[in-house]
Amino acid sequence: MRTYEVTNEDMELIKKAYATLDKAKVEGNYYHTVGSCVRTKDGRTFEGVNCDCIHGSCAEFITIGKAISEGCHEFDTIVAVHPEGPAGLFAPCGNCRQMMMEYCPDIKVILAGQDNKIFKTDISELLPFAWTRLKNGGDLLQ
Ligand SMILES: [Zn+2]
Repeated sequence: MRTYEVTNEDMELIKKAYATLDKAKVEGNYYHTVGSCVRTKDGRTFEGVNCDCIHGSCAEFITIGKAISEGCHEFDTIVAVHPEGPAGLFAPCGNCRQMMMEYCPDIKVILAGQDNKIFKTDISELLPFAWTRLKNGGDLLQ
């Protein structure tokens, strides 16, 4: 797997994701358990939390949707956090990996292994042979 060292900027994403998760917690409400933060290529950051219900949405979906709704379409790096994950981080689920491959196929994801070492990798490393959309409107399985 291709990996990259995390930068101080990346560590700020982790802090912002946790700050957002803390803001979302309400006494007696346990539905917001994952926070996320994405940095766009122009250096802006957007945060979000998961929304749990029968058809809930992951924090990464909320975060990227928030950035897109503000006109940002070029993404650099994303992270999701959960206190019980390795190094307090949370790997994106399969559905989020597919969404990122479609919306931001060159985004980097901050992760940690079971040894708690934090690193970055390309989303394409997390979803090999991903389904992709052709530019001319057709669909293609790779
Ligand atoms: Zn997900």
